[in-house]
Amino acid sequence: MPTPLHRLILFLLLLAPLTACEQPRVLVLEADGFAWEVIDPLMDGGYLPTIKKIVDGGVRADLYCADATSPGLPCFCPQVWATAMSGVKAWRHGINNFAQNSDQRSSAMLWDVLRAEGVTTNLFSLHNTWPGEPNAEIVLTEEGAHLLGDLFYEITPNGEFARQAVSPPLYRGAHGRRLIAALPGTWTQPAGLYEQLGLLPYDGPRVDAWFPVAKDRVAMELLARVAKERQRDTQLSLKDALPEEARKYGFLNPHKLLRAYNNMSYGERRQFRDGLLGIADQAYLDVILLHSNDRQSHMTWKSIQERPFDSIDVEALYQSADAWTGPFVTPPPFQWGRIGWQYLEFDQWLGDLLSQGYYDHVVILSDHGFQPNPIPSGSPPGVHNDGQAYNGVFIMKGPKVKRGLDIGRISVLEVAPSLAYVFDAPIATNLHGGLVERIFSEDVLEAQPPRYIESWQPYLPTQW
Ligand SMILES: [Zn+2]
Repeated sequence: MPTPLHRLILFLLLLAPLTACEQPRVLVLEADGFAWEVIDPLMDGGYLPTIKKIVDGGVRADLYCADATSPGLPCFCPQVWATAMSGVKAWRHGINNFAQNSDQRSSAMLWDVLRAEGVTTNLFSLHNTWPGEPNAEIVLTEEGAHLLGDLFYEITPNGEFARQAVSPPLYRGAHGRRLIAALPGTWTQPAGLYEQLGLLPYDGPRVDAWFPVAKDRVAMELLARVAKERQRDTQLSLKDALPEEARKYGFLNPHKLLRAYNNMSYGERRQFRDGLLGIADQAYLDVILLHSNDRQSHMTWKSIQERPFDSIDVEALYQSADAWTGPFVTPPPFQWGRIGWQYLEFDQWLGDLLSQGYYDHVVILSDHGFQPNPIPSGSPPGVHNDGQAYNGVFIMKGPKVKRGLDIGRISVLEVAPSLAYVFDAPIATNLHGGLVERIFSEDVLEAQPPRYIESWQPYLPTQW
């Protein structure tokens, strides 16, 4: 039952003029290797409450990944992710492997374009962002996530990159050399972010973790801190503005108004801040790449699908999900977990993040799905690059997006232009993909006609 205070707040909201220019906040979660074959049964079984809410309230699609290269070629992670954020094929953006630096890209990325529109972007653990991104604000490079994972977690003996990187003679190869080069100064952009946010120096317990999991957790933690800090900033500016506003509307105690504010939905808060208090929020894009699900699926996919084109063994998937005891329990000897476990961890983390930070639009992408290795005793048990294309996942929810709709299949080439539209940024007509209008509601398309320019190339940074 609404209290008189609530009624007054609602009345004030009615008075608040809608801001002419929406300043969206967008989260893009790049969940490597997420497959609908796992998500759908897990949602049906009640295992992914946060992801289900986003799917139910937004649009879903298969993401066709073979477009990153040419039809029929594999869906290879770094190529697909660079295509998703640039709107062009790999031959044009020039990213073909993990061990390439950001300055080897030959196409502008979404964040290069957005910077010119006054939108700030933060990048967490993306491939090929080392040694930094001139047009992004906060950058945790993938190499930085590797190395930080090793500070926070007891990496298993076969912990791959980081252990070897801190003992340089033990490691050879391009990735190892990049890790060594990343030690210690360029973990984050700006430098010292972990220290600023109180994450370092770390003197807590170092629990065991498989390396890709450790890497993802440090990236998630950094993003959560950044989002929470931003929320606190808004609270602080509200506290400054409130006493005067409160008096104006007859509140003797401004804390009552602040309490009412804290009980509002995010949408109401937004309207309240922008319309009534005139505190304009900055538009921003947060992009995080989570790697561990890809690795886990490679190692465990055959537990739910024995041979290519078999139907998924949903009972086996549920048994595995039931065996999940939470993200931090890793009894030695550490294994990579079971199929679906990283889906459960990501869902829990996403729920926590959305309760702490505020986003208008949430986008979940994956670069490919999986199938069992067609060679019966072949390793790894799960594959996504044996010459066929395995659709990834596209999910998007937010005020500009249609609700509860399956829009079929879209191409990875169409992701960047469609995200540009969310920010009302111009879409280049020479991209390999265009805006997917059926994502967005008709009145949004009518009120905000897409803007076009010839090319995004002028936004390609020239100095690193
Ligand atoms: Zn991948």
